[in-house]
Amino acid sequence: MQYKSFTLANFKKIPQIQDHLSEQEIFDIEVVGHVFPFKINNFLIEKSINWDDFHNDPIFNIVFPNRGMLFEDEYEKVASLLKNNTPKDRLIKVINEIRWKHNPHPAGQMDKNVPEIDGHKLSGSQHKYRETILFFPRQGQTCHAYCSFCFRWPQFIGIDSLKFASKEVNILIEYIHRHTTITDILFTGGDPLIMRTNILRHYIDPILQAKKNGYLPNLRTIRFGTKSVLYWPYRYLTDSDAEDLLDLFREIRETGLHLTLPLHINHWKELVPRETQLAIERILESGAVLRSQSPLMRHINDNSNDWARKWQKEVELNIIPYYMFMARDTGAQHYFGVPIVKAWQIFRKAYNQVSGIARTVRGPSMSATPGKVMINGVVEINGNKYISLQFIQGRNPDWVGRPFFAHYDEKALWLDDLKPAFTDKFFFEEEMENVKH
Ligand SMILES: *Cc1c(COP(=O)(O)O)cnc(C)c1O
Ligand code: SF4
Repeated sequence: MQYKSFTLANFKKIPQIQDHLSEQEIFDIEVVGHVFPFKINNFLIEKSINWDDFHNDPIFNIVFPNRGMLFEDEYEKVASLLKNNTPKDRLIKVINEIRWKHNPHPAGQMDKNVPEIDGHKLSGSQHKYRETILFFPRQGQTCHAYCSFCFRWPQFIGIDSLKFASKEVNILIEYIHRHTTITDILFTGGDPLIMRTNILRHYIDPILQAKKNGYLPNLRTIRFGTKSVLYWPYRYLTDSDAEDLLDLFREIRETGLHLTLPLHINHWKELVPRETQLAIERILESGAVLRSQSPLMRHINDNSNDWARKWQKEVELNIIPYYMFMARDTGAQHYFGVPIVKAWQIFRKAYNQVSGIARTVRGPSMSATPGKVMINGVVEINGNKYISLQFIQGRNPDWVGRPFFAHYDEKALWLDDLKPAFTDKFFFEEEMENVKH
């Protein structure tokens, strides 16, 4: 299949859109698509989405913007500007105002955790947790399609001048060499595997060379965080550089490194297409290990049976369930967000249904400024309810694995909404404030 993508500019030409959606529904996509990035491709249209029941199709809801993603007044504002053929500069101004209201940079992504070496900032990286450095290759800052709930959305619409980009792989190697606690490098984006293999090799080959030369004894794992298996399986099947990509995976393995692809899988239905299953087989044959992670999203996967089925399907396909995340406090969190207590209930009910093999999954977890905070659950002490939490990754590694408590709150969506129980502050807060200043 030849890759063809559709965006706001041309989505009305998709025949399935014309056949199945009402005029109002098409207009809604247009309105919301002006605010949040929107991209879909022919694989999803032809092989993945069930158009006869598109309202309830998780894949349709993952990639198409929904009216509910904007607040009513925001929707009305953009809708009336579009209806009145407002000049472009005025339209853009209003749209940008709305975007900035949707917290485009959660968890201090832009300014914190940027590694530095000899006074030189490694602008396309983040080093937050001791063992793992994130790397955002410049050409990997887009995806084969866009998830409507994506927390990287600002970089797709270009309001991030920095774009977390880097081509400074040699500085990266030097940084890993000097920071011997780093064992993992996680390539992320966007989707790093949207890069053509020859470009990807500009990044990977020097790392493998350094590893072979004994310069990176601490490095053990390379990860590629990707959605490509679900959004464009041809990346591993028929694209002209598919073979070369799988060869590169083999070369990574031959260097003695663990190679893992954390796959972004939101729903078991994404694993149904034959092409996707074939791609998974081919990746596994290269020696890479597949893991899965996904946010828990209202309107997409807020149902324990779907999660249980997803983890079981993953195990069946040799994918290791890894993370369930909470919806980040960005974009349309009011639309997609699931409260902490409800998320725990969904997780528990799903976890209860699967065997130990699928219970490798951890969550629900919030990637918050101090770290990855997992919701252990609701406990009752002396007749009062509390929420038990713990870090599974911390800005300070010593925070990990210590249960702590918050007051019960059914509405809370995020760590910031919770109030500490038994103490004035959460145990990590003082140290956290020092980091901020
Ligand atoms: C999740 C995450 C990682 C990886 O953590 P693991 O527990 O090793 O999977 C690394 N850096 C950041 C900023 C993260 O959010
Ligand atoms: S695959 Fe990931 S980075 Fe790409 S649009 Fe979806 S959530 Fe965003």
